[in-house]
Amino acid sequence: MKPADFEIDSTDPSFVSDIDRNRNELFSSFEWTDPKAQLQNRVKGIELDRYFRLTESERIGIRDTIRLNVSATPYYLSLSDPNDPNCPIRRMIVPRESESVFSPEESADPLHEERLSPVRGLTHMYPDRVLLFTNHECSVYCRHCMRGRKVSDSKERMTSEDLELCFEYIRSHPEIRDVVLSGGDPLNLNDTKIDRILENLESIEHVRICRLGTRNPVTLPFRITKELCGILESHNTDRLSIFCNTQFNHAKECTPEAKEAILRLLKAGVSVGNQCVLLKGVNDSGETMLELHKKLLEMRVRAYYMYDPELIPGSRGFRTPLAKGIEIVDYMRGKIAGMGIPSFVNDLPGGGGKITLGPDWYLGYYKPERLHVFRSALRGTYHVSSEPQDSTFEESYPEISSETWEGIRSSCYGVRGKLE
Ligand code: SF4
Repeated sequence: MKPADFEIDSTDPSFVSDIDRNRNELFSSFEWTDPKAQLQNRVKGIELDRYFRLTESERIGIRDTIRLNVSATPYYLSLSDPNDPNCPIRRMIVPRESESVFSPEESADPLHEERLSPVRGLTHMYPDRVLLFTNHECSVYCRHCMRGRKVSDSKERMTSEDLELCFEYIRSHPEIRDVVLSGGDPLNLNDTKIDRILENLESIEHVRICRLGTRNPVTLPFRITKELCGILESHNTDRLSIFCNTQFNHAKECTPEAKEAILRLLKAGVSVGNQCVLLKGVNDSGETMLELHKKLLEMRVRAYYMYDPELIPGSRGFRTPLAKGIEIVDYMRGKIAGMGIPSFVNDLPGGGGKITLGPDWYLGYYKPERLHVFRSALRGTYHVSSEPQDSTFEESYPEISSETWEGIRSSCYGVRGKLE
């Protein structure tokens, strides 16, 4: 046993732990803003042990995960807390033991993307839109990734021939107007390949929209270089409109570097929206989501979706009750502008497509007085508005009974104030 006066006091402010030292060494060992150097210095698998005080559950998770590879850029890792296992960024980087369990309700492909794939790497679920899997690689392998069956797996690499077959399919289907580039992360391809893909899409007469699904503004903002933005801008033309949907999940991710990346995309004419994923222990509270979306608006990113997590293998640690998402939307309404409130969506298992879910602000229709009754999200009060006299839709509304109406009538507000 060490003599007492040689014992390390980790509460002493001058104390520097091995973990802090390792982090400092890593963060100063290369050109920080060089995206290639960030990728070359990614921390993988059990190397995380050098940068986090890992819990037993995390060690088992890293060893036994049934999901995608474990890897993070030093930039993204620098946003995490080495000592707190509940740090939201750490939860998205470091697997836990729950990631090693394949639950009976889960499936590798819950949305049936493969069944709806006419050619390798392309999913045609909606009539006018396709999803093009351009690349199996990402800067960080997020533990909650819904496409973990393919992402990080080199067997899923898309060759030029695969991509050509996808373009041929799109060319021969004039109903396709909108192509989502996803993966993996399309921005982990090099500039030349991105240029070629966009050139191909731009040359197809009926393709008018291209959406980039990328997490690089969050996990490696330095990838959004002037050169890349120049390429995006050159294809963002009268022929083709380019949008970017990114995925910030927590306010800690909204850094000055991320903001700079977003501003570069905006300057290239690329409109940026956010599709967050509702994740237990990361962002499953109204206040956390509100803070995230306030920060996003400050970065000029509009809210788009808040996804209910998919039933993918090993995802039980992240899943929240359906009611949680509805509660969050209810909480946010009235506290931030509408463009900062995401639609809560469930991508239906079995390839049913997305549906939106929301709080019950519409109580129903009181037919004798042709009135719709609503609950105010802002004040919790009841409000009415009338159906047009010539409406032929009266039968399509859920009806409110006379008893319910009599019970709330005196507390309802209409255009002239409280009802008499
Ligand atoms: S960046 Fe997107 S595709 Fe890649 S691991 Fe994360 S969630 Fe999955």
